[in-house]
Amino acid sequence: MDAARSRRYLGAMGVQVWRLRAVDVNTRGPEQGPEEIPLPAHQVDTVVSESAEPADVGVEPPSEAAPEAVPAAGVAGMDWERLSKTVASCRACELCETRTQTVFGVGNRRADLMIVGEAPGADEDRQGEPFVGRAGQLLNLMLAAIGLEREQVFIANILKCRPPGNRDPRLEETLRCEPYLMRQIALVRPRVLLSVGRISAQKLLKTDDPIGKLRGRWFVFGPDEIPLTVTYHPAYLLRSPEQKSKAWQDLLKVTRRLCEMAGDPDAEAAS
Ligand code: URA
Repeated sequence: MDAARSRRYLGAMGVQVWRLRAVDVNTRGPEQGPEEIPLPAHQVDTVVSESAEPADVGVEPPSEAAPEAVPAAGVAGMDWERLSKTVASCRACELCETRTQTVFGVGNRRADLMIVGEAPGADEDRQGEPFVGRAGQLLNLMLAAIGLEREQVFIANILKCRPPGNRDPRLEETLRCEPYLMRQIALVRPRVLLSVGRISAQKLLKTDDPIGKLRGRWFVFGPDEIPLTVTYHPAYLLRSPEQKSKAWQDLLKVTRRLCEMAGDPDAEAAS
């Protein structure tokens, strides 16, 4: 994607870009340096302090034994068809009483990038697809800004059913739903996992750390040792647009990592 187009998406996202270099990492020539997006002055300190990346942190996938209603061992062997049918008829927790339908996940089942959100909201519950409301529209713009169509990535949530009133997921609900997401990750086997939002990050990383401490770092997730990073939830960015430039930095990290893994030597130089 050309820089002008990327700038248009960033403008639509509400990210102010004063000087944008080499956004399209796929076409950057060897002579070009790393991307540089000068930030509004009040954000410079924060970003500079995050630029020294902590060492990778190994993370085991969620390990608590799931309640019997969703036998993790059975789910772990399922193919896509059985998995989606099992999710569609799941009654493992009380969310099945209030949902309109389950929200399995959508996108490229062989995606390089897999995005994990929190749980379906009202729009998703109605349409049966993750991230289709206002937050989803912003997510689409964020992806477009790094040259990705929504259809190129795989998008799923920690929970497959909407918690009533969009309350936070309860522990039992996340435990019962966990085998489904673990199986989706194992089937997609993405090159990079992007966890969006506090709940997604805390559940995947099994931590209570605040999102401000988790974003901007790389973790290693699960037996397949998938690089995982965290960014702000688009719904939060809609409420706090001043954080969008940090999310943009996070997305650039994802792009660089994907390029590195695809063997782009330029990306390694930039990271
Ligand atoms: N928020 C999420 O975390 N997931 C969705 O699917 C929609 C909104």
